[in-house]
Amino acid sequence: MVLVADGRVVDVVARRDAPGAWEDLGDLAILPGLVDGHVHVNDPGRTHWEGFDTATRAAALGGVTTLVDMPLNCLPPTTTVAGLDAKLAALSGRAHVDVAFWGGVVPGSEEHLGALSEAGVLGFKAFLCDSGVPEYGAFDPAALPRLLAATSRLGAPLIVHAEDPTELRPAAEGADPRAYRTWLDTRPPVAEERAVAALIAATERTRGRSHVLHLSAAGTLEPLERARRAGVRVTAETCPHYLTLAAEDVPDGATDHKCAPPIRGRDNRERLWEGLRAGTIDAVVSDHSPAPPEDKHLDTGDQLAAWGGIASLQLGLAVMWTAARRRGHGLDDLATWMAAGPARVAGMARKGAIAPGMHADLVVLDPETAWRVEPAALAHRHPITPYGGWSLTGRVRRTYLRGRCIVRDDELILPGRGRPRRRGEV
Ligand SMILES: [Zn+2]
Repeated sequence: MVLVADGRVVDVVARRDAPGAWEDLGDLAILPGLVDGHVHVNDPGRTHWEGFDTATRAAALGGVTTLVDMPLNCLPPTTTVAGLDAKLAALSGRAHVDVAFWGGVVPGSEEHLGALSEAGVLGFKAFLCDSGVPEYGAFDPAALPRLLAATSRLGAPLIVHAEDPTELRPAAEGADPRAYRTWLDTRPPVAEERAVAALIAATERTRGRSHVLHLSAAGTLEPLERARRAGVRVTAETCPHYLTLAAEDVPDGATDHKCAPPIRGRDNRERLWEGLRAGTIDAVVSDHSPAPPEDKHLDTGDQLAAWGGIASLQLGLAVMWTAARRRGHGLDDLATWMAAGPARVAGMARKGAIAPGMHADLVVLDPETAWRVEPAALAHRHPITPYGGWSLTGRVRRTYLRGRCIVRDDELILPGRGRPRRRGEV
């Protein structure tokens, strides 16, 4: 029994004679509300891709009670306090779950790091390769020590899109642009391996703190493991799509599977599960990044022209549970990977676990019910996802945000209860 008062967990007890009102949930499982540390809300500026209303609605329905917004694809990007203020204004009245913010750092914006940190961003995101949008520039890996020194002075992690651009290649002449292989070949594992090696070296040298975003290449796991054993403060996340999809299975023209780094082969996928099991990967987060059908080039299926980004915010819990239980994992593992882990990476002390003093963010999951994904029934902006038609096990029955039931049986019954969260507040 979870005892809740004033939005916080008071205690977790076995008895049923606690004072106050209580509710019997039968055989349903109670998990901590998920913390999704990697969501591209794109609001303001590209709200025709995704916005706070639709994204936080999808989050609530999927059992995500806290999301951390990424600093790019929105306009302006969150590289200045004015950018953060624009975000807060866009969020006002539209937050159905709690929302925190990653700040961004691009060439020419380093002078804003201190003020942004003061304003409450959780850390700073940098790209080592082309971000896909012109307003968000990339750094040479040689800049990493300088950036890490600056962010660690502020007590914030540097979170990095780690692909070395010198290892990325144009598509082979005459290659079929609809074939997934064509896209995959442009972003080989060595690009990730080299970038992660550079990040580890810079983190070690500066004694800073870094985080590898959306890790896809399993060849990075061993160096990460070694670095961490040596005390280097580097963490890593991966995403449901790298753990549940495989390059061999992507149909030609299926641009809803396109993302960067790319979904790789089956063997690589199973090695990522091993990394998760071993604790080398700290967190599983969505990297939810929708775009309109025309930007995904669904009509032509051109993998090279399509915008990269996978939309899965509402589905992560069921997608992961379906795959994890098949591999012998329990709901406690899911809570570690999707709540406690991302909360720790983002520096949130009051989110991600059911324990006294924590925010009473809870998901009530029916772990046995099977259901079919209908993209049109999802709450995010565009009904595009690689999981359309999938049969999943595990259904969110309720979502509680700070002690209040906000979702009951697929309906957002208490909208607008989310709050912006600054560093130190969560
Ligand atoms: Zn991303």
